[in-house]
Amino acid sequence: MGSPLSPVIANLFMEQFEERAIETSKHKPTTWFRYVDDTFVVWSAGMDKLNDFLRHLNSQHPSIQFTMETEKDQQLPFLDVLVRKRGNKLGHTVYRKPTHTDRYLHALSNHHQSQKYGVIRTLTERARRICEPENLQSELEHLRTAFEANGYSRRDIERSMCVRTPARKEIEERSTISQAYLPYIPRVTDRIGRILRRHDVRTIFKPTQKIHQIIGSVKDKRDPLSAAGVYRIPCSCGKVYIGTTKRSMGTRLKEHKASCRLGQTEKSAVAEHALSEGDHEINFEGCTLLASVNGFQNRLVREAIEIRKHSNNFNRKEETLSLNPIWNHIIRNTRVMPLDIKTPTGAERAPLPTATEVEQTTPPMPRYKYNLRTRIRQSTSRIRNGTTSEEARHSC
Ligand SMILES: [Zn+2]
Repeated sequence: MGSPLSPVIANLFMEQFEERAIETSKHKPTTWFRYVDDTFVVWSAGMDKLNDFLRHLNSQHPSIQFTMETEKDQQLPFLDVLVRKRGNKLGHTVYRKPTHTDRYLHALSNHHQSQKYGVIRTLTERARRICEPENLQSELEHLRTAFEANGYSRRDIERSMCVRTPARKEIEERSTISQAYLPYIPRVTDRIGRILRRHDVRTIFKPTQKIHQIIGSVKDKRDPLSAAGVYRIPCSCGKVYIGTTKRSMGTRLKEHKASCRLGQTEKSAVAEHALSEGDHEINFEGCTLLASVNGFQNRLVREAIEIRKHSNNFNRKEETLSLNPIWNHIIRNTRVMPLDIKTPTGAERAPLPTATEVEQTTPPMPRYKYNLRTRIRQSTSRIRNGTTSEEARHSC
């Protein structure tokens, strides 16, 4: 189901499947609703025939097998709706699993207020859509208690739960000329967001770091030699080679070794360097995978970045991507992965350039004479007037 097209194709298949299955069944359901792989069926022909119907469904295709859950205490959940039987009618309210703990985004969490109030608004809106009128008040009261338990004040809850009129929504949407996505940093990006709002630019705040980013992956680590990506081969003279491969790093290293042995300098820059004047001993054992990157263009860009970071490289310039100098500022502020390679005599190799040394080799960034507020005002007026970026550059 990795492709964005998969759900569409699966749905087309299921539509054809259910049409054929219901058409060929001896007894048919009174009602059949399906959402992706969940179906809600009203059956009026008795339990035995219902089991026959399930067997009939499961005989249609070996990969499509249904399981069945029937009503208990005259109620049955379907998605997040609890359907209740009342005489000849069906009532409905919000369904929560028995294990649900009513834990939502806490009021003290490091998120922008709009995200916190968004949780209240979304759950209130869901209650209004799903609940029938007689269940709505009890559901809203349940939500109020849950929000209070999650640290929200009564005032914030009532303000967020109030019905938003379509007119207000429309005015907001009509006046917005653009959207900006910013990481939420308290007292920094929310101030920028306020300035942007004055110019009708809506800001969407994103959390800076999530727990899974702190914990990292729990999967077993792959052998670096089996990965594709960008790698670094050091030489005894202190220089390094930055390479990229779409196959495994191990396979590419074997090719470099063979080129060195056979003197194929045209095939490998490593071989050319190893056979050049001076004492060069290529340390294949000290080879490092700098980044596991998939995709041809991504690998080329990453290789160019690593070449810029390692100014002591012996790469052939004509074989690598030329990187726009606009990236120098960011690249010079990123750390170069340290090398830990010893010579046969135990002496340290020449160290890689430090961030300061890299900085000296890159031109300084131009300083803007306008402050942030002025620049935002200029950018938004350009968007309004439809000025192109080229024209905008000349106007600065
Ligand atoms: Zn060398």
